[in-house]
Amino acid sequence: QVVTRFAPSPTGFLHIGGARTALFNWLFARHHGGKALLRIEDTDKKRSTQEAIDKILEGLDWLGLDYDEPPVFQSDRAERHADVAQKLLEADHAYKCFATPEELEQMRAEQRANKQPMRYDRRWRDRDEAEAPAGAPYTVRLKVPTEGATTIKDAVQGDVTVQNAEIDDYILLRADGTPTYMLAVVVDDHDMGVTHIIRGDDHLNNAFRQLPIIRAMEEIEGNWPDPVYAHVPLIHGSDGAKMSKRHGAIGVEAYRDEEGVLPEALFNYLLRLGWGHGDREEITREEAIQLFDLDGVGKSAARFDIKKLQNLNAHYIREADDQRLAELVAQEIGKPGETSVLAEAMPVLKPRAKTVHELAEGAAFLFKTRPLELTEKAAGLLDDEARGRLAGLSERLSAENSWTIEALEATTKSYAEELELGLGKLAQPLRAALTGTTTSPGIFDVLVLLGKEESLARIDAQAS
Ligand code: GLU
Repeated sequence: QVVTRFAPSPTGFLHIGGARTALFNWLFARHHGGKALLRIEDTDKKRSTQEAIDKILEGLDWLGLDYDEPPVFQSDRAERHADVAQKLLEADHAYKCFATPEELEQMRAEQRANKQPMRYDRRWRDRDEAEAPAGAPYTVRLKVPTEGATTIKDAVQGDVTVQNAEIDDYILLRADGTPTYMLAVVVDDHDMGVTHIIRGDDHLNNAFRQLPIIRAMEEIEGNWPDPVYAHVPLIHGSDGAKMSKRHGAIGVEAYRDEEGVLPEALFNYLLRLGWGHGDREEITREEAIQLFDLDGVGKSAARFDIKKLQNLNAHYIREADDQRLAELVAQEIGKPGETSVLAEAMPVLKPRAKTVHELAEGAAFLFKTRPLELTEKAAGLLDDEARGRLAGLSERLSAENSWTIEALEATTKSYAEELELGLGKLAQPLRAALTGTTTSPGIFDVLVLLGKEESLARIDAQAS
């Protein structure tokens, strides 16, 4: 059975790269009918916050990524990590290092001066611990093979080989007995039964340090198979540089709150960010589960493109249920009681909006109070001549019994013909009077949505 995990460190928001990693893991598990698991890597107590944990969980939930078991908190598992370190020690796959921090600092200074790679020189690997002063503090280091090479058959990167001599005997347990990240990840992945590790390619180097633990434990107790690794290229900004805040590397909740993005649009966008199926852009959640596999993950960095996200968002807004959008907009503009009006307006607002904010902007005319505040442009359209025409139009519209698009259009057109004017000459000042602006949905839609009474009141307020 396929088991994947998403393992965020709760030191900040769920950013776009993390969300994509979460998505790929989730899709891979769902595609294979396996399990998707979540692990909160909160061992760095100084940098981990409850707020970050909440934001990550909320972001995942918003994107519709659900997990098959409650999240594992890495910090709860320190004893088990130490236990594995103990087993490694007993089996001579690890050793105690009594080097003091000062001593190690000096070692690094010498390496720096000699332009050697800065790496622990294995000084305690073959020494007898009896040589250390009694009761001296020590770290536990992994005894990494010094001969040969390790090859990872990465599902995205292909075969990657590193000489074992280049991997240092890194620390598993610190002097205070706490596990390092490198140990904790390996033990947790094993205990959670993780079969596929899909993560950013900034972790590829770590894989070469994590595998020796797995292989040592396999030798010691068996049942520690190598996981399949898939290291996904990081996301770059539109300028090709590594994605950062300046490129819009904001938290997932900011895409919702600040960018007015729908979760299904971000889901689709994240999917296309580094994974492809032919040239298809619009792929629903169900199709994604059906189609996703690691073959489709690209080897080169994907570029973040906010325009593409907005275009997908526009698509999903058009597809979305009117009532749902009405509720989102009502919430955004702080008018929870107005969802039915908004739902009625949605069919004319939807085709014009790329974001929920644009829907809200488009809907603003519905809730304006008289006398309408006019934008400068709108005021410019309402000269004396235009006001006079609005008066004439008001007279004709008030005689209108059937307040429908067809009837209103026919009446307005015939009045324009009577005046020997193009329809625009009448429609523009009408729009200014009805909405206070120069852009809005179709003017007859606006009349219908406002209703007869409100429309005539707005027109009369500007007519003379
Ligand atoms: N906690 C690590 C991170 O947030 C991920 C570890 C992993 O995926 O192995 O970068």
